[in-house]
Amino acid sequence: MNIIHLLVIEKVDTLGDRLRKVLSSEEFHITTVHSINEAETVLQELPPDKPAGILLLHLEDEPWEEFVRALRKRFFLTPLQLIVATESLEGIPLEAGVDDILHLPISDEELAVRVRAAGLRYRRQVQLVEEREFLRKAVKHEEELTAKIMDQNRKLKRAFEDIERVNEELVRANRELERIARHDALSGLLNRITLFNAVDAEIERSLRTGSPLSGIMIDIDHFKNINDNYGHQCGDDVIRMIGSWLLGNLRKYDLAGRYGGEEFFVVLPNTRLNHAVKIAERFRKTVQSYTIQCDSHSIQITASMGVAEYRMGETRDMWINRCDRAMYVAKHRGRNQVVADTFPLGHDRHLGR
Ligand code: GH3
Ligand code: MG
Ligand code: MG
Repeated sequence: MNIIHLLVIEKVDTLGDRLRKVLSSEEFHITTVHSINEAETVLQELPPDKPAGILLLHLEDEPWEEFVRALRKRFFLTPLQLIVATESLEGIPLEAGVDDILHLPISDEELAVRVRAAGLRYRRQVQLVEEREFLRKAVKHEEELTAKIMDQNRKLKRAFEDIERVNEELVRANRELERIARHDALSGLLNRITLFNAVDAEIERSLRTGSPLSGIMIDIDHFKNINDNYGHQCGDDVIRMIGSWLLGNLRKYDLAGRYGGEEFFVVLPNTRLNHAVKIAERFRKTVQSYTIQCDSHSIQITASMGVAEYRMGETRDMWINRCDRAMYVAKHRGRNQVVADTFPLGHDRHLGR
């Protein structure tokens, strides 16, 4: 327990000496001064924010009323117990904040009890001030902590947003990479490997469901001449045009791939031979009607096409070769035409029919 400072201000040593006898020196440290001036010197040494302890005044003809008011102002927020010992109540500034009045004469017992009671009140005041300070610090700490947590949360949210953005970019980049890996850069159609995989999948589906499946092999006529006459760049433009036209004119479940240099293969699921021939004929007419502008040249092209319907039991290569063979027949017959590969027996033995 902290020791309580008791400052006794009296002209002649009386109360101070008596208090030293009746109070425990472990609890109270008693200093006696003989004037207000002397008291102020002692008080000056006390920091203004430190609790002042207890003052006991017994100064009949000193200006102590003024002194009490000044003290109360100075120790407005810090604990201080102020006891006035007096023979008469006259002129005592009760409203200025005196904590107790001792009527003189007083017995040692009462003196001790009253000063100890002031000690208890003082300790309680100190405790309240400390609690207030503790709570103030706790609130401040909590506010700082809350601000820190909110700041961390903001940072975390930003980090999550960044991660999400990067992930979205990665997903987009991966999708683009996948698209590039599956497609032929010049024509924009499926590349040969992807085309073959797609053909395999369609064959499997046809076998499973019994639905017809047809293919068209397309080869541009005299393509070499285009390269020779207008340059390789113009040849590339023609391939690009054919690619974008095929992409724009197929049904969404049809597939088109670049089979070779200027050869394309179109897969038509759920399509019989006669219908596939009509589609090929439409392609042929469109290609023929196209004029491709390259540099200052207007290029016109034609294409030969071979159509074959998949037959149960044949391999992918067997089916594609029949399309290819039909396409070569078209070449031999003078190009710019569609030839269908018909079954030698003259009837269709496709699965399910
Ligand atoms: P045919 O009517 O008999 O099909 O005649 P063709 O000239 O088209 O025949 P061929 O298959 O002999 O020639 C194809 C040419 O296509 C040869 C090659 O130089 C050219 N070629 C292949 N790939 C490309 C390409 O990516 N760009 C360009 N510009 N030319 C290509
Ligand atoms: Mg060719
Ligand atoms: Mg050709």
